[in-house]
Amino acid sequence: MDFLPIFLDVREQPCLVVGGGEVAARKTALLLRAGARVTVQAPALHAAFDAALGAARIEHRAASFRDADVIGYALAIAATNDNAVNRAVAAAARARRIPVNVVDQPALCSFIMPSIIDRAPVIVAVSSGGASPVLARLLRARLESLIPAGYGRLAALAAAFRDQVRTRFKPAARRRFWERALQGPIAELAFSGRDAEARKALQEAIDDTRLADPRFSLTGGEVSLIGAGPGDPDLLTFRALRLMQQADVVVYDRLVSPPVLALARLDAERIYAGKERARHTLPQEDINHLLVRLAKAGKRVVRLKGGDPFIFGRGGEEIATLAAEGIPFQVVPGITAAAGCASYAGIPLTHRDYAQSVVFVTGHLQDGSMNLNWPALAQPRQTIVFYMGLLGIDILCRQLVAHGLPAATPAALIQQGTTPQQRVLTGNLDTLPGIVRQSDVHAPTLIIVGEVVRLRDQLKWFEPAA
Ligand code: SAH
Repeated sequence: MDFLPIFLDVREQPCLVVGGGEVAARKTALLLRAGARVTVQAPALHAAFDAALGAARIEHRAASFRDADVIGYALAIAATNDNAVNRAVAAAARARRIPVNVVDQPALCSFIMPSIIDRAPVIVAVSSGGASPVLARLLRARLESLIPAGYGRLAALAAAFRDQVRTRFKPAARRRFWERALQGPIAELAFSGRDAEARKALQEAIDDTRLADPRFSLTGGEVSLIGAGPGDPDLLTFRALRLMQQADVVVYDRLVSPPVLALARLDAERIYAGKERARHTLPQEDINHLLVRLAKAGKRVVRLKGGDPFIFGRGGEEIATLAAEGIPFQVVPGITAAAGCASYAGIPLTHRDYAQSVVFVTGHLQDGSMNLNWPALAQPRQTIVFYMGLLGIDILCRQLVAHGLPAATPAALIQQGTTPQQRVLTGNLDTLPGIVRQSDVHAPTLIIVGEVVRLRDQLKWFEPAA
């Protein structure tokens, strides 16, 4: 180990930054965030200081650096573009045993500054010991995506209950308590900003007499209804990925792509809940009860749905059953097929000149017909996105024309959008049914109707290379 990692308390401590450029401004801002009193020494200050300082105040000493200027400071940072000045600062500080950092010159430093992930009060620091700052930054980016943005809220929650927990439990039980409390439902409440509920749940956990039993689990018994997006695993949210990696059981349906499913915890049990048109593997009723049963058995259940759970996903029905049974649950939004397919096909859903509104409708056939508000749909300057519309394509094209849209209105079919198998076929309300038959189009396919489809020719370059 070349460096000793420590976290320094600089609150109200005088710190010196030598340099007036953008880098000096960044270092100054960081010191201020940690509560330091900062003196900046430089003939003039770059405009970046205005942005970096906000309402905070610094002392500006507009003089060139002399050896004695470091006296009295708890810490010094040299960030000038003049090597001689940087060396002078380092020498002056080192001679007086004042910790000193010279930006990008590890050889002159008595301490180096890590890349940080700030979830105050939780701070994660990453350093390559000066070997490769870029590598440290890349690692930092990976950690950023792993550590929930609300981690600081969880730490604040733990701090608020620390004394109470210390009084209530002996050391071994206390550790066990925190290990159980800081994962699972209480943590998820804190992450999603439901602070009052998190406090209540934590208080209940502290008061729960069953906690004396080490087998009693605080972490089990919850359901996350997660939007898995339209197919490309890169379109998952950070929260979705985190919950998938903690899951005991994953209940998924047909629209969830294999690469997305592969991201769930390796040893999680996977249950296929089906849903193919006319061949419902599990009736909705059974899915609802399956989720309840698994959660009651103490499992962390992830219910993965294609796209967004609340857009033609029957998410509302599944959580209604959970709510009625008192099972803790959360809903994680996903990228819906309309958003994913449209951007991957180069079709903006709205456009200043072509469409001021967009409607999402189901083209699902019931008893061979489609009961939609056609006059409201067949409006000029409106984009219509049909989900589940493939079987009813003849009806929907005919009805839109019958209610006033020109037969030449452009339309697109996007099959398996955002996946490597994505196909985009374009035509108009007159030609679309024929295209479906000739080109063997199959589900899942999204239909987009409206003038915006024309823009695809200009924006096609945007499509990922096949
Ligand atoms: N909850 C989902 C929609 C479920 S309804 C969402 O928000 O996206 C199922 C319909 O969604 C399919 O019939 C199809 O019209 C559309 N769909 C879902 N994923 C798709 C994809 N990758 N490509 C094209 N259409 C898709």
